[in-house]
Formats: sequence, structure tokens, C-alpha cells
Amino acid sequence: MPKAVGMMSGGLDSTLAVRTILNHGIDVLGVSFKSAFFGPKKAEAAAAMLGVELRVIDISESHLEMTKSPKHGYGGNMNPCIDCHGMMFKYSIELMKEVGADFVFSGEVLGQRPMSQNRNALRVVAKLSGEPEMVVRPMSAQCLPETEPERQGIIDRSRLLDISGRSRKRQMALAKEWGIENYPLPAGGCLLTDPGFSRRLGNMFEHNPECTPYDIELLKVGRHMWLNDDIRVIIGRDEKDNNALAKLEGSEFRFVEAVDFIGPLVLLCGDAKEEEVREAGAICAAYGRGANEKSLSIRVSLGNNDAPSELINITPGVRDSYAGRMIR
Ligand code: SF4
Repeated sequence: MPKAVGMMSGGLDSTLAVRTILNHGIDVLGVSFKSAFFGPKKAEAAAAMLGVELRVIDISESHLEMTKSPKHGYGGNMNPCIDCHGMMFKYSIELMKEVGADFVFSGEVLGQRPMSQNRNALRVVAKLSGEPEMVVRPMSAQCLPETEPERQGIIDRSRLLDISGRSRKRQMALAKEWGIENYPLPAGGCLLTDPGFSRRLGNMFEHNPECTPYDIELLKVGRHMWLNDDIRVIIGRDEKDNNALAKLEGSEFRFVEAVDFIGPLVLLCGDAKEEEVREAGAICAAYGRGANEKSLSIRVSLGNNDAPSELINITPGVRDSYAGRMIR
């Protein structure tokens, strides 16, 4: 039986693409990707619903390096969609070779996204895969040049689809016809398309071009502020943030919190000197209930709970004075 590797995001288009290929009697191995910016959760649900095996490939390191300087630029935010898709296809082609599959496919639809799914972008993405002739887009195949698996008769081009454009009416009609329900709405799921997260990320790349996937994890929690070029503070916005920050571990972290007043947990990142620790304490106090005290005690520790700690007395900072320095 012919076999294909299908890139799955868990959205409607890739789900329909898998169903189209399954309808040809072709065995499908799904593949989804995990990075610092997105995960395979929706794809796992879609694969379970379709009854196909799913491989999840962790591309966190290589994807982050690509995102720092994408050859084909960014979309509306920090989303390097052309290079990102090209990279995913490259990994999918490797998987195709590893498992002896006949081709790879995705749920891309011609013209659905003006920047990353126009005719030229689809051609560039296929080229980035390293094996452009083995890349099939079942949703729009009849609007695109014929590929090798079609020429070889592994798939019947006349039974592939000719969907193009931004309307999703045909996809919704097909979903109904094929009994596909509870599919997620388009967009969402990738932090790189989020304007607020993109601002933080751009700031991180500026300050710390060597940042790692772990640094990106930190961007997902709390308010962020640089005290100077090397030292950053992360301020918990609520209990959920405080709990998430408390679980972090790192020899370059200091945990800063008020002793006698309710307030945020502040994480001090970097090799902080005494004056920077004191500034973090002032920030911690400014965002807590003790903001109006003349002075208060702040606990500074290398970790939570049982970690060694010291108490310092500080004067609370003025909250308004920090507003302009927060990365929003
Ligand atoms: S939206 Fe995110 S995951 Fe999707 S192609 Fe663009 S960068 Fe990649």
C-alpha cells in the first residue's frame, strides 16, 4: 500500500488533507512539530479523531535559530511563515525517507494567506524542503503544477481538490460531508502571530541574541523589564504567574518577594549585583500591598521554599515610574 507523510497542525485544512489522502487508500503517517512557540496538542487530537499515527518532532533549537534571522522575512508579527513551513517540510521529507513513504503533503490552501500561501510562496516553501517534486498540497492540487506522485499514478490528480482563496465555505461543507466535527478555528496556536508576544520576543533578540528555548519559556510568564543591558526582572501578575515563576530553576536566578505583605514574586535573571537586587526589591514592593510603606523587608533567595535566603530592607519604588520600561 502506498504511504505518505502528512503534516498536521490539527486545523481543519490539514485534517481535510489527511482525509483526502486516506480516501485514496493511501496509508498516512501524520507528523507535527514542537517548538518554543507552538506545540502538537491540536494535531494529537486530530490524529486520534482520524485514527492515524502521529510522530511529533521537537524542532525547538533549529526553529528558534531560524526565527532570529529568517531568510524570507517575517509576516505581520514575528512569524517567519515561509521559512517555518520550509523547515517543517524538510523534516517531513527526512521522515518520508526514514519510513519509506512515497511523498509528503500538507493542508496548505493556495491564496488562503496572502503572504505565505500565494503561488510563489508555495513554490519557495516546496523548494526549501529539498525535494519539491515530492510535496503535494491535496487541498489545492488541481490549481498547482503536477507533482511526481501524481505523474507516477500513486495519487489520482482528478480526485484531489481545487480549493483556493480565503473563503472556508468549501472546507466547512467537506467537513460536514465527511463527519469531521469540533475542529479548531483558523489562526491561534502559534505565539509568533501574537502582537504582544512578538514585541517581547523582538526585545529579547535585541538584548540577548544568544537566547535559548528556555529564555523563550520565560517570555510566556509575567511582566518583563530590563534593569540594564544584562539584568532582567520578571514580575508575576497574579497567583498563576507567581506559581509558574516559583517552579523555574536556574543558577542565574534570584527570587525576590515581600515578607510581610502580599505581592508578586519577582524573578531576577542574570548575574545581579547588590544594587540590582535592591532595585528588584523596590519593584517587588511597588507592585504589592506594601507599596505605601516607608520601608519593608524583602526576601531574596536562590530558589523557592527551603533554598538559602537573606532579608534586606528596601524603600518601595514608585509603580508609575516603571510603566514606561515594561515590555508590552
Ligand atoms: S503561523 Fe507560526 S507555526 Fe504557522 S507557519 Fe507561521 S510561524 Fe510557522
